[in-house]
Amino acid sequence: MTGATRVLVLNSGSSSVKYQLLDMRDEARLAVGLVERIGERTARLTHTPADGRRRERELPVPDHGAALRLAAEELAADGRGLDSPELAVVGHRVVHGGQSFTEPTLVDDAVLAEIERLVPLAPLHNPANLAGIRTARALNPDVPQVAVFDTAFHTTMPEHAARYAIDVATADRHRIRRYGFHGTSHAYVSRRAAALLGRDPSEVNVIVLHLGNGASASAVAGGRCVDTSMGLTPLEGLVMGTRSGDLDPAVVFHLARVAGMPVDEIDALLNKRSGLLGLCGDNDMREIARRMAAGDPAARLAFDVYAYRLRKYLGAYVAVLGRVDAVAFTAGVGENSTEVRAAAVAGLSGLGIEIDERLNSAAAKGPRLISPEYARVAVAVVPTDEELEIATQAFALARPR
Ligand code: AMP
Repeated sequence: MTGATRVLVLNSGSSSVKYQLLDMRDEARLAVGLVERIGERTARLTHTPADGRRRERELPVPDHGAALRLAAEELAADGRGLDSPELAVVGHRVVHGGQSFTEPTLVDDAVLAEIERLVPLAPLHNPANLAGIRTARALNPDVPQVAVFDTAFHTTMPEHAARYAIDVATADRHRIRRYGFHGTSHAYVSRRAAALLGRDPSEVNVIVLHLGNGASASAVAGGRCVDTSMGLTPLEGLVMGTRSGDLDPAVVFHLARVAGMPVDEIDALLNKRSGLLGLCGDNDMREIARRMAAGDPAARLAFDVYAYRLRKYLGAYVAVLGRVDAVAFTAGVGENSTEVRAAAVAGLSGLGIEIDERLNSAAAKGPRLISPEYARVAVAVVPTDEELEIATQAFALARPR
């Protein structure tokens, strides 16, 4: 590989910016950093260069632009600033690409305007992503910027999976449909699961369970997403750390009419105070497992509701795909929780889905199979790496420079 080989990946959340600098010759991380609590009285920056010597600072950081300038300063202090000739491209995670963006896209003014037009669909995230892109562009106008959309992988969903059964004119006017999220992770993990089976992604059908603090499932047929559990927003689907996942939409009317809650409060209730946290007061699966082992009934109920929803989606996606070659667990809970993996597939041996207890509880890292050899469906743990996937996609677009 000749020429510039470094990629800066930026992931701007509602109040944080995560960044990684990768060298695509060997996919090495040259720096990993995080600016959190943006907009609060004091924000915190953590920057770890390749030598592992972590630097931390606490200081006021008013907005995402300031956060990125700070990250750029830290990178420059390592001799790897945004003006380095080694920097090939900046890859930005953009949460919502609507129906407009079906693949990673080189950013120009028209692309920025379209991401802006999609702000009503992701009011907390797209503005943060836009600020990141604009600041990175201002810091070095010569480096290409690539937007990698969380929704893009799901744009292959057929219309019957993407549509809600509501009035079509109303839905279209307000762009209401199922978009799905975590697409970068679902794309990466489904491909890695195929590789683990020694097969081409186009030959296999995979169910991916991305179980982090946010959680989503997807059904991937021959490398293309055909359904996913998140919808217009990341609230639909599985039970998550703090989100309810699926519920009767009339619960919202009930909370408004009977409980007298304003819409913003209902939004906060369902997104921030529901899910595992709402059921038992904790959203960290490690703590829930510990409490459950100590006989705590609220933790047990939270775990059971979580696992039951997962099993329902697994069953549903078996029906969607017809034939399943692999089920892949990923993200914080999926990669680490032996208990959740066991409970998610409990009783599904009739569908060919089962795990080997010894393999499931073995302390291991990296992609691995946890199903018995005779099982019809391979069950796998596949660590996700969204930053690497964003870097790979951005680098592929920027290479001809
Ligand atoms: P993520 O959003 O992918 O970073 O996942 C974060 C979540 O993963 C945390 O809220 C924990 O619930 C869960 N998690 C992380 N490590 C473990 C572990 N060792 N065992 C169980 N759950 C874990």
